[in-house]
Amino acid sequence: MARITVENLSTVYPNGVRAVDALDLEIADGEFFALLGPSGCGKTTLLRTIAGLEAATEGSVSIGERDVTTVEPGKRKVAMVFQDYALFPHMTVSENIAYPLRVRRQPKARQREVAERTARSLSLAELLDRRPGQLSGGQQQRVALARAVAIDADVLLLDEPLSNLDARLRLEARTFLKRLQQEIGVTTVFVTHDQAEALALADRIAVMESGRIRQLGSPREVFGRP
Ligand code: ADP
Ligand code: ADP
Repeated sequence: MARITVENLSTVYPNGVRAVDALDLEIADGEFFALLGPSGCGKTTLLRTIAGLEAATEGSVSIGERDVTTVEPGKRKVAMVFQDYALFPHMTVSENIAYPLRVRRQPKARQREVAERTARSLSLAELLDRRPGQLSGGQQQRVALARAVAIDADVLLLDEPLSNLDARLRLEARTFLKRLQQEIGVTTVFVTHDQAEALALADRIAVMESGRIRQLGSPREVFGRP
C-alpha cells in the first residue's frame, strides 16, 4: 500500500502533444480513486506515467517515498490492467497469473502456490489449467486482475478494465473490484468514462480535461449526489 504524489507533472509526447499539463494530485494510501473525462483528455497518459511506462517531461510522480522514475522496472510494486486484458494465449490461467513471479525469478513451487491462492480468492480455482481462449470475457478479466494482484502490488492501475464486458458482467466485475480493494486495501486508480462506474466504486473522483484536473472530490461533491 502506498500514497501516490503527483507534482507539477507534464507528459509531452515527441510529436508535441501535451497530454498531461502541470498536474498536481495526491492519492491517499488505500484509496479507490477514479479518473474520469472525455476521450483524449490524458487519463491513460497520466496512468502510464504513474506506472513509469511514460517518462515525465516535467515534475514528478512518487509512490510512497520513492520517485517512480528512479525505481528499476522489476522492482516497481505497481500493477496495471489494460482495456484488452493482454493475457498470454498460449499460457494456462495458472501460468498467466504466475507470470510476474516468473519474470522476478521466483521458484516454480512458489509460482504455483501464489497462482492457486490468488485464483481461489477470485473464484478462478476451477479454471487454473484452461487457456484464455476457453474463458468468457468476465473470466479473462478476473485472470488479468489476479495476475495484477499476484505480485502484492502497492498500487493497482486500471485502464477501463471493464469496458469490453456486457452490462451483467460489468456489474459483477464492479462488485468484485470493490471487494478486492476492501480486502487487500491496495491503492487503486481506475480510469473510466462511465459516471455510474465511478459513482459505484470510487472514494474520490477527478474529472480531467485537456491534461488538467477540472474537478476533484467525493462522488457527492462531483456529481451532487451520494
Ligand atoms: P485518454 O486516455 O483520456 O483518452 P490519452 O492519454 O490516451 O487520453 O491521450 C491524451 C492525448 O495524447 C490525446 O491527444 C492523444 O491523441 C495523445 N496521445 C496519446 N498517446 C500518444 C502517443 N503515443 N503519441 C502521441 N500522442 C499521444
Ligand atoms: P484511449 O483508450 O486511452 O482513448 P486511444 O484509443 O486514444 O486510447 O489510443 C490507443 C493507443 O494509441 C495508445 O497506445 C496511445 O498511446 C496511442 N495513441 C493515441 N493517440 C496517439 C497519437 N496522436 N499519436 C500516436 N499514438 C497515439
